[in-house]
Amino acid sequence: MIPTSTDALSTPSISPVPTPSPCNDTESPPPSPFANLKIDSPQPLTRINGRFSCPECQRSVKYFCYSCFQVVGCDRSELPTVHLPVPLDVIKHEGELDGKSTAVHARILAPQDVRIIPYKEVPEYPNPREILLLYPGENAERLENISQGSFKRFVVIDGTWSQAKRMVRDSPQLAQCRRVTIAPHKTLFWRFQNMTEYHLATIEAIYYLYQEYASAYEYPHIHPNAKASQSSSLTTSLASEHHRDIASKLPEHYDGRYDNLLYYYRFLYDFIQEKYRSETKLGGRDTFMAKSPEYQGKALLFLHDAFGWKLPNNRLLVDYFAHELKALVVCPDFFDGDARHNNKEKGYKEFVKAIEALKSEHGATSVGVIGYCWGGWGTFLLAHTDLVKVAAVAHPSTPELPRDIQLLKQPTLFLCAEIDRTFPQDGARKEAEEILKSQGSIEYKFIDYPGMTHGFAAKGDLNDPAVKKAFDDAHEQAAKWFNHYL
Ligand SMILES: [Zn+2]
Repeated sequence: MIPTSTDALSTPSISPVPTPSPCNDTESPPPSPFANLKIDSPQPLTRINGRFSCPECQRSVKYFCYSCFQVVGCDRSELPTVHLPVPLDVIKHEGELDGKSTAVHARILAPQDVRIIPYKEVPEYPNPREILLLYPGENAERLENISQGSFKRFVVIDGTWSQAKRMVRDSPQLAQCRRVTIAPHKTLFWRFQNMTEYHLATIEAIYYLYQEYASAYEYPHIHPNAKASQSSSLTTSLASEHHRDIASKLPEHYDGRYDNLLYYYRFLYDFIQEKYRSETKLGGRDTFMAKSPEYQGKALLFLHDAFGWKLPNNRLLVDYFAHELKALVVCPDFFDGDARHNNKEKGYKEFVKAIEALKSEHGATSVGVIGYCWGGWGTFLLAHTDLVKVAAVAHPSTPELPRDIQLLKQPTLFLCAEIDRTFPQDGARKEAEEILKSQGSIEYKFIDYPGMTHGFAAKGDLNDPAVKKAFDDAHEQAAKWFNHYL
């Protein structure tokens, strides 16, 4: 992820999750933020079903190979090719998971102009002052203040922000490059990241860099008030959470020559948005729902974390469980569209209503519950009853001990983070296991994830291979648990 403002650097707080207005059936979907860009039809990609063997490395991949940059499933000639005015090197941190990097899109779409280079192989640039490194900070300049002939190449770092800082510090080549920065933009990235919204996916940063190149050198005379309009449109975009129009800062007569850099990005974004539209009602409440075609009465109530039902990761997990359990999985909006609240009595009644609706509206015969963080206490309360058959919690927040554990009636799986103030290893976590062991009344299992912090199973930084591994394992374990008891 690439930060685009110095604010973003000093506030690594948890980002507000994009919160579109509450679901309303009569409302038309919001305009696509890509609507005004000239991006070719995604039709060749929509035809691709399933994975193909990479012609070079034989790995099974979808759309393209992250290692060899080969296109699979359609002919390369069906896809757009972008020509860049300045070549680009993407320096890739080894820890950056291939499958997560959006920088590869640039390499595939602009093959003549983009190189992807592992960090260990950073080239010896003969004159580093002619290289513009995209890297925010005090001594970074904007393109409009740099003369066009004074640089020969762009360099972008692909890695987490902390990796990027280390890479620049430790590499004399990178440290000597001249630094360039871009205007702040909000990301459209759909994976949860523990950063502000102004940290961009790498392909977004690359796109905006070339967009600014166009503004600075290719259309400078057309938009004399570019600066003023930039700041006002930023304010507008800050005010509008819902509609983020990427094109709002473009020069008037810009011909869209770099827009296809976002060809895959828009396709993947729309693909996830499509899932967003599986919003429906359950017992009158806005609900995200995924139903396996093989559904035969098994249902799972997904109690979201403090970030609410709109969090993309929550929705991807709902899909995951529907598929793995051949079940109907629902994530109702227990925050009623707005901020979190902790009225347990009121909340509990709503959980019960959701389960009743699963039975009456969808014929569920067997219901399980999984809760993350905020959803943890509700999971415990439901597992005190026969409304559910099985429960799982991941890093539960505010459990009431010993009561919440003593009263458990159903098999319960605990996915625990090592570093978790709300369910500490040598506090509540330990006490819970001791209670269950001495009572011997239910099946239970504790799985500890060393090095993980509270929240990892719902919103961990999946760019971090260790977090990604724990995240995947936690959900495989939960799926196994539910497949056994549900
Ligand atoms: Zn390959």
